[in-house]
Amino acid sequence: MSIQLSSKLPNIGTTIFTVMSALANQHKAINLSQGFPNYDCDPVLKDLVAKYIQEGYNQYAPMGGLPELNEQIYAKIAKLYDVQVHPETEITITAGATQAVYTAVTAFVQAGDEVILIEPAYDCYRPAVELCGGIPVPYELSKPDYKVDWQAFEQLITPKTKMIMLNTPHNPSGTIFSKEDMLELQRITEGTNIIVLCDEVYEHIVFDGQEHQSILRFPDLFERSIATYSFGKTFHNTGWKMGYAVAPEYLMDEFRKVHQFNVFCVNRPMQHALADYMKNADNYLDLSPFYQRKRDFFGSAIQASRFKPIACKGTYFQAVDYSAISDEPDTEFAKRLTREHGVGAIPVSVFYSSGKDEKVVRFCFAKTEDMLERAGELLCKV
Ligand code: PMP
Ligand code: GLN
Repeated sequence: MSIQLSSKLPNIGTTIFTVMSALANQHKAINLSQGFPNYDCDPVLKDLVAKYIQEGYNQYAPMGGLPELNEQIYAKIAKLYDVQVHPETEITITAGATQAVYTAVTAFVQAGDEVILIEPAYDCYRPAVELCGGIPVPYELSKPDYKVDWQAFEQLITPKTKMIMLNTPHNPSGTIFSKEDMLELQRITEGTNIIVLCDEVYEHIVFDGQEHQSILRFPDLFERSIATYSFGKTFHNTGWKMGYAVAPEYLMDEFRKVHQFNVFCVNRPMQHALADYMKNADNYLDLSPFYQRKRDFFGSAIQASRFKPIACKGTYFQAVDYSAISDEPDTEFAKRLTREHGVGAIPVSVFYSSGKDEKVVRFCFAKTEDMLERAGELLCKV
């Protein structure tokens, strides 16, 4: 007889990415649902990992990260965002951004604390808050521009607000936060004890000449912030699950109290390889033009369709409005699209606590052109 269980996450099922990828595989559909490239990472990087494994760098790394890698990240941040963070004490290497987010939430959110989530929100944020006994407080963005109305946002702040979580460039909408947005965030958190968790995994995928407004660029805001990053997005190896967090030392101290018992440290040979690979800045600076070409290619491929693209300013996702095609719920539409039309997509309503359904689905364009072209042909027939 099984025991009586009281689930800590009673309302959570299997993630939409697993569900939609499985459905796409089952129906042999072109999988533009879960966000991962269908091309491999640079052989140079793979060779470096092999080299470090062969050379015997196979034992634990230092808890906060391999110093060589933390140094490279420090140098990149100094160059791109004009701020000096301390490599040893303000950067921690994590098992992807997911672990960084989870560890940050666990380190700071206590039972009864309110955490404002900007929705549609990436799926791992809310469960992390709930597992800590925190209370998610959603702020909903809407199509087509997914912009924050900061006056309305401010109304959500209470004495119980412990954290604000945001994500720029934003998955799934493809919007980005402007400098003005970050200054508004700075203004409304000034003088409070609110911690800001800024998920910047798509920092190197920003289009049309715009600059990524990293939270690291705003010293007064960064003073209360943790930023999270993912090598998987930047170097086309989502399966490696490597990332990092950046925070001022007093926050990073608390983060590491959890990190050391969460994982202690992460994959050592990959840290050596990434440290070497990052020495060539082109390896990440070329990413925006690379993905802008893909965005534009996919945009042209669906131009004759009845899908209405939502402006994609960053990330490798194209959100589209399908209201001219169907009034089905987006979860149903995405499944039917996969089953009957052979293209997998992610319904955006799953990223809202309320299930708000604006008839928008998300396509991942981190795919080779032949795949995007075939998908475009199928989507034009819908
Ligand atoms: N945050 C966002 C916004 C993401 O889109 C993703 C993954 N696509 C992650 C975090 C997780 O990153 P990782 O795979 O490095 O855990
Ligand atoms: N971040 C990826 C996406 O948004 C999915 C990652 C995952 O499957 N957990 O599609």
